[in-house]
Amino acid sequence: MKRISFLNNCKLLSIPTLIIIIILSISFEYIDVILQERQDLQKQLHKEKVSFIKDKLSSMIVTKQKSTVAIALSIANDDRLADTIVDRNIKHDYYEELISKFKSNTFYKNIWIQIIDKDLNSIHRSWTNNSGINLKPLRDDLKRVLVTKKPHYSVSVDDYTLSIKGMVPVIKNGETVGVIEVISHFNSISKAMKKFDYNSVVIATKKETKKISHPFTNLFIDNYYVANFDAPKDLREYLKNRGVSNYFNESYVEDGDYLIVPYPIKDINGRKIAYYIMFTEIKNISSAHIDYFMFKWIAIGVMALMLFAILFSIYLFIVNTKQKEYYKNIIDASTNIVIIDSENGLTEVNSIFFDYFTEYKTISEFKSEHDCVCEFFSDTDGYLQKYMDDEHWIRYVFNNPTKDNKAKVVYLEQVYYFSVTASLVSKEENHYAVVLADITEQEKYKLELEKLTITDPLSGIHNRRYFQLKIDDEISRAKRYKHPLSLIILDIDHFKKVNDKYGHKVGDEVIIGYSQLIGSLLREEDSFCRIGGEEFIIILPHIDKSAAFKVAEKLRVSVEDSKKIIPITMSFGVVEYIMGEESESIFHRADTALYKAKESGRNRVKIG
Ligand code: GH3
Ligand code: MG
Ligand code: MG
Repeated sequence: MKRISFLNNCKLLSIPTLIIIIILSISFEYIDVILQERQDLQKQLHKEKVSFIKDKLSSMIVTKQKSTVAIALSIANDDRLADTIVDRNIKHDYYEELISKFKSNTFYKNIWIQIIDKDLNSIHRSWTNNSGINLKPLRDDLKRVLVTKKPHYSVSVDDYTLSIKGMVPVIKNGETVGVIEVISHFNSISKAMKKFDYNSVVIATKKETKKISHPFTNLFIDNYYVANFDAPKDLREYLKNRGVSNYFNESYVEDGDYLIVPYPIKDINGRKIAYYIMFTEIKNISSAHIDYFMFKWIAIGVMALMLFAILFSIYLFIVNTKQKEYYKNIIDASTNIVIIDSENGLTEVNSIFFDYFTEYKTISEFKSEHDCVCEFFSDTDGYLQKYMDDEHWIRYVFNNPTKDNKAKVVYLEQVYYFSVTASLVSKEENHYAVVLADITEQEKYKLELEKLTITDPLSGIHNRRYFQLKIDDEISRAKRYKHPLSLIILDIDHFKKVNDKYGHKVGDEVIIGYSQLIGSLLREEDSFCRIGGEEFIIILPHIDKSAAFKVAEKLRVSVEDSKKIIPITMSFGVVEYIMGEESESIFHRADTALYKAKESGRNRVKIG
């Protein structure tokens, strides 16, 4: 049996493999592109965030500066202020009260007032009772107020800290007699920035740090003064470890978990005197955008893959259909029935199949009523059954190619014989091509011949040859299943006389007639054979000698009573099989019993 090789399958397999390889490489490329896009989008988002936050900070600083100017203006509005400065008659309590009013009526919880004379001596400071120093060497912004006689705001470093200042000239009779200065710190700004998820560290430059003799916050990173109280310790450590100045000239830095945005703070002359460094955790930055972006592209990718899968399935379906058509044409060309079958049922049959199973036009019609062709197998010894030696018949045929496997099919009361062969067409799916070649004619002829060799031509019952085959068979069965087995030998009494008196022809009729009589009295499983001229033997499976005796006695009486053709009698020898004995032995014992029956007067039964 040859295994059918589907060379074409290799071709078909290589196309999907190639396509899968292409899809995989496109997918990898696609994922790469998306990740790159994602990175770009993230960068873009960071940039937007950076410019947003810088704008925010810058506007907050300007707003604060303007507010400090506004507060300074409202204080400078007091007519007595100029005299107070000139006379140096400053009432500390008055300004204390004023400040607390501002504190309670504005958002600024920390503001300070400094009153400065026209020589830039600090003559009143709201935060101390001590009078101050001369600010000329420290403060270009104050000088500018004196020169321009106009309010100004600035960020500057004094001997305490970096602060936001609003300065208003105090004028009497057209002369500037002093300056009122309102100071606020960066703490409120850094607090406000926290609302945007930014933690801040406000750092004065090294040069500016040197000016600070009484550091307000007492916070330093190396030689850099930190101007906001709420600068988190871990961020100060972070900057210390990485070098503060490394961040000054960057627009922004993406460093590990942080997006770091430095913002230079300039004094009135445009000099960078400090850096406002803001930290935010990258994971806080608008992940919704990124998630949406990823979702969109992944969804597009999945849809593209699905579309491809659908197209590919259609392609495979077409290829498969064509392939099926191709093989269908091949099997249709056969003059034998060809079925493609697995242990799970039929998958294909050729057109010849329907020449036999004429009630059906398609395989699905057939399958709607039958699971297997084997449903039509006749339950006859020597022909295939649904299961053979516990194997499904197809597998059995495939595994036993040298055996002469034949199926006897009975369909619509017609009997067909087929020689059956099986080849494996798909090991994975366990599909077999089963060829059923019609051998009905040969098989019927052969069966007829076989029947003739075991039949007595005169009486039509089994002959001696059959007896010899059958007795060995029954002995081995009796041995195997340990059931009793008996033999009855019978012989017509004085048959010679019948011949002599009525002639040979009548003698033949007697043999035929009494064979029929005896045959009609036996069970299906009993074997009745003519083993000599007018001598017969009966094999009785499952019957012991006493039961066999009764059978023989019944036959004897029937023969005697029948009186058909001519009245005759018969003598009977009955024996039961003794475990282990050969067929010759039991036959011999039966013959001896018959002899005894003859000896003792005929027309009787003797047990041996
Ligand atoms: P017994 O009671 O001892 O058996 O006497 P018998 O005459 O029957 O003796 P035996 O069995 O020895 O004789 C058999 C005879 O049967 C011999 C033969 O003439 C006759 N015979 C054998 N075969 C046939 C047959 O086919 N047709 C006919 N008509 N006679 C046959
Ligand atoms: Mg006889
Ligand atoms: Mg005889």
